[in-house]
Amino acid sequence: MSNQELDHLREQIDQINLQLVKTLNQRAEIVQQIGKVKKKQGVNRFEPVRERHMMDLIAEHNHGPLETATLQHLFKQIFKAGLELQEDEHRRDLLVSRKNKPEDSVVNVLGETIGDGKQRIIAGPCSVEYYEQVDAVAKAVKEQGGKILRGGAFKPRTSPYDFQGLGMEGLKILRDVARNYDLAVISEIVNPADIQEATEYVDIIQIGARNMHNFELLKEAGRTSKPVLLKRGLAATLSEFMNAAEYIMSQGNGDIILCERGIRTYERATRNTLDISAVPILKQETHLPVFVDVTHSTGRRDILLPIAKAALAIGADGIMAEVHPDPAVALSDATQQMDINQYNEFVSSLKQTYPELI
Ligand code: PEP
Ligand code: MN
Repeated sequence: MSNQELDHLREQIDQINLQLVKTLNQRAEIVQQIGKVKKKQGVNRFEPVRERHMMDLIAEHNHGPLETATLQHLFKQIFKAGLELQEDEHRRDLLVSRKNKPEDSVVNVLGETIGDGKQRIIAGPCSVEYYEQVDAVAKAVKEQGGKILRGGAFKPRTSPYDFQGLGMEGLKILRDVARNYDLAVISEIVNPADIQEATEYVDIIQIGARNMHNFELLKEAGRTSKPVLLKRGLAATLSEFMNAAEYIMSQGNGDIILCERGIRTYERATRNTLDISAVPILKQETHLPVFVDVTHSTGRRDILLPIAKAALAIGADGIMAEVHPDPAVALSDATQQMDINQYNEFVSSLKQTYPELI
């Protein structure tokens, strides 16, 4: 075959490629239209019966030289690309997505900002136990320049026989102590019926990992005007996590902080496996501030410092950590909380690299 002949054939191939590009994009446009109709009708995007029909039609009209199996394999990829296109459109629709709102959301808590580039620490005991216990921790948090005090009053414990928290009484202690030190309060609420009353005591509502899929709780938090810190579920994908945040925002509350707190894997060296890549992915895909809970993700005091450094280095808007005056006798999470000396050292070490951290 002469070079001229080869060039001519290649020109034909180039033309066909361009035709295919055009045809595939025409097809994609129709797929998009179908996606819109399906969305309006609330119909599932995946339609295996329809896909089977298209495959059969292709087989019926295939006269070679390509094998039917080869063609069907290629078309499977085309179908998949179409579904992905519909999914992209769906994601663009999410209120929490950056596609929907390109600029970062900044959450205001009693005049303090979260998500504006300043990195923050939320610290406090796992559970509120008694006034003096919270007071000792709040004093340390304040001395280290912290602005937000945590403490659980409604505890989602694995065993129903373990300490369940002091309930509203605990919230009152937390709020009273925090106000003495001019700190904001964050605490977990587990029952949708408690949300309204709790807003009298907390500045940020925490929704815990075990409740990330509690859609009624998410909606109720979404009906308040309090910021919500939403933790990632123990086995939630990032897409599920973002959709949980969407439940809150869909009710009108856009003040949401996402918190990666580790997921359950086969690894037992840490309590959970911190998914550090979740931080840049959530920052990229959503406009919400992202925190990392260094305590519950690791369950290990000895690695809190490098983990916190990793979280701050990768761009988290802040970290959460548990501190107790005497962790050995704590009523929950006794093995993972820092004592006050350890907390002071922890913050001082972090400030060597991150002097702006508060
Ligand atoms: C907590 O922060 O008190 C807590 C229970 O954490 P998580 O929901 O992440 O387990
Ligand atoms: Mn805890």
